[in-house]
Amino acid sequence: MSRKQKIMLCRILTAGGLLILLHFIPAEGLLRFFLYLIPYGIIGWDILKKAGKGILRGQVLDENLLMAVATLGALVIGLTKTGDYTEAVAVMLFYQIGELFQSYAVGKSRRNIAALMDIRPDYANVELDGKPVRTDPDEVPVGSVLLLQPGEKVPIDGVVLEGRSSVDTSALTGESVPREVQPGDEIISGCINMSGVLRMRTTREFGDSTASRILDLVENASSRKSRSENFISRFARWYTPAVVIGACLLGLLPPLVSLALGRASEWAEWGYRALTFLVISCPCALVVSIPLSFFAGLGGAGRAGVLIKGSNYLEALSKAEAVVFDKTGTLTRGVFEVAGIHHSTLEDQRLLEIAAHAECASSHPIAVSIRRAWGKEIDRGRVTEIEEIGGNGILARVDGRRIAAGNERLMTQQGISFIPCHHTGTIVHLAVDGQYAGHIVIDDTLKPESAGAVTALRKAGVRRIVMLTGDRRAAAERVASQLGIEEIHSDLLPQDKVAKVEELLGQKSPKGVLVFVGDGINDAPVLTRADVGIAMGALGSDAAIEAADVVLMDDNPMQIAKAVRIARKCLAIVYENIVFAIGVKAVCLILGAAGVANMWLAIFADVGVMILAVLNAIRALFVSKL
Ligand code: ADP
Ligand code: MG
Repeated sequence: MSRKQKIMLCRILTAGGLLILLHFIPAEGLLRFFLYLIPYGIIGWDILKKAGKGILRGQVLDENLLMAVATLGALVIGLTKTGDYTEAVAVMLFYQIGELFQSYAVGKSRRNIAALMDIRPDYANVELDGKPVRTDPDEVPVGSVLLLQPGEKVPIDGVVLEGRSSVDTSALTGESVPREVQPGDEIISGCINMSGVLRMRTTREFGDSTASRILDLVENASSRKSRSENFISRFARWYTPAVVIGACLLGLLPPLVSLALGRASEWAEWGYRALTFLVISCPCALVVSIPLSFFAGLGGAGRAGVLIKGSNYLEALSKAEAVVFDKTGTLTRGVFEVAGIHHSTLEDQRLLEIAAHAECASSHPIAVSIRRAWGKEIDRGRVTEIEEIGGNGILARVDGRRIAAGNERLMTQQGISFIPCHHTGTIVHLAVDGQYAGHIVIDDTLKPESAGAVTALRKAGVRRIVMLTGDRRAAAERVASQLGIEEIHSDLLPQDKVAKVEELLGQKSPKGVLVFVGDGINDAPVLTRADVGIAMGALGSDAAIEAADVVLMDDNPMQIAKAVRIARKCLAIVYENIVFAIGVKAVCLILGAAGVANMWLAIFADVGVMILAVLNAIRALFVSKL
């Protein structure tokens, strides 16, 4: 509990105690009134102050004013008619109990999320003259050497230089199996080094490191409002004036009518009903529980390794109708093995060396795989004029000779005649100084979870599943048939993918949502264009984290169906709360107007609904178990 909450608890206890005590004091008349003002002041002064401030600022009709008017009115009724002030104090008391409960729940789920995302490192041990020096991560330049003891958090992204260990990535990915690392492997900030001592070299600044970016993302997520949340503010805009007018009518009309008919006017009775009506109308449960549900949903999803950048995307995801996949790196592992080298005019190793050097700067999975197949140190000094042509390949000079490495399109575009390959797999053709030099056949493997992911999405109610790829038709068909995807579009350049997605956007139903899943390489524009862009395996890929609306921390495609299920669950909770809160409100309002419900019942209904709604909202925090 925070200090503020503790103070509130004290106020509640004091006022409650005084209220009970006053019950036994036989004071009468004005003295009794002033005695009751003490607990009323203790528990309600801040509400009165906020109501006053609201009036001065011109935003009159909020819940503080509702409470102030209702309780002051109850005091006046007590003074003029019943001589009992318990109700006014109790109403305020219960309202504050509700508020305290709510602030505790919100604070708790906020803290929970912060704890779940406990990835912010406090320090980095920089190696200086062979000794570790504790440094603020913010002040560590790129290329520094860090030492990591077992149990320490990796503060900055980097590469392992020395040592073997397993790292726990669960805070980032939700994946509980630790990952083994050895020299040469990348490691990302936010993981925990578990078993061995590691020496690593940083490859980024702290601010650009994965942990910092993810925290930024999580912290900003709740500022993007969903339509349901906007619905609440629109609702409040007409609801509050409506109930105030309703209360005025209820307080004035019946007595005036009675007066006109020559009967007793009963001002106090109808005044009391009007005030009860006001207390009941207070929409706290809605106002509180809806943002809380989204907040908890975002937190629960985060815990499962699904980072959603705003509640608007959470809501959109729940309506997913079509899911469009990129192939390489999304459905396939994006780790290509060299399956053969054909028609080479050079020695195979020489061809691979040239290809690896030409690809030295690309982050495309093909490039990474070719560099790995070459396996030796790459001397970047030998490579100049690198130009990556998205969805086609690479142009560069290696040792001063013009190299083209890429697909058939690239060869055609460069005016080089090539020998087509009849093997399955992805083909990288090579040309040296405009002369065809042979091709490398590389083969990608499916991720083991891909087929399951497609089935799970179908089961989750996604009607249309499409695969887009820049690869050849043959390679695309092979993958699609293994996964059971019927609709494929191949040979697409990055801009064609955007056009294709736009075409698909035009075909879906008006309320349906199109989700695109990619790895951020050559498909960042598509991630932005789709209704919801999901980037997967995005740890470390800046473009993807920027462009995507949802970031999956590991590259398991099963997570997509999970994200959809989480979103549906969270939205279901939101709707439950809306229906429940408005329903109970409506019944109580009618009872209040009819004079059946008194202020006690009103306040119990209000606090009760709010507590139930908040408890229901908190369920969204546990959606990761879905
Ligand atoms: P996908 O849609 O399957 O993710 P991309 O759009 O990234 O594929 O690439 C499409 C095709 O462009 C690849 O199949 C490959 O033939 C070629 N290509 C792209 N980048 C490179 C590269 N760096 N080196 C060689 N070929 C490349
Ligand atoms: Mg791709």
